[in-house]
Amino acid sequence: MPGQTARRDGPEGRARYTHAMRVGQGFDAHAFAEGRPLMLGGVEVPHARGLAGHSDGDALLHALIDALLGAAGLGDIGGMFPPSDERWRGAASLDLLAAVLRRVRAAGFRVVNVDATVVAEAPRLAAHVDTMRARIASALEVEVGAVSVKPKTSDGLGFTGRGEGIAAFAAVLLE
Ligand code: MG
Repeated sequence: MPGQTARRDGPEGRARYTHAMRVGQGFDAHAFAEGRPLMLGGVEVPHARGLAGHSDGDALLHALIDALLGAAGLGDIGGMFPPSDERWRGAASLDLLAAVLRRVRAAGFRVVNVDATVVAEAPRLAAHVDTMRARIASALEVEVGAVSVKPKTSDGLGFTGRGEGIAAFAAVLLE
């Protein structure tokens, strides 16, 4: 039964718990770069600069991917999509997210909910939050109510406050 915890003995005699709830967290940050579209949460946000990166630079989706992989015990984004691999150059991070969902599902988990924070001094993201939530929910095959995206500034402090880049944090619950 989903969400139910059952105890089994593992090969070394340690207790193993199946069907338990699993929490994961992720972080990412990318620098602004000229001549690139700004992709955040799978949405192209109008802005003078985009984010540098091997893929489309979507720091929010990368934080979310790390949260999903962490919750499932499957490593991290760099292990699954190495920057040295030309297959991922310019990749749409929504496609990477969908690939990660398949891995998470294959490991026996489903997504309960997602909560993310994006730290950007500019542009203002509030008008794009509902579209980001819808795109993430679609990629994760969950209801939009299971996806939260919260835009924040850092009150002028640090690299986000100076407008040098954007940071993102994500938490995920799997069962
Ligand atoms: Mg990244």
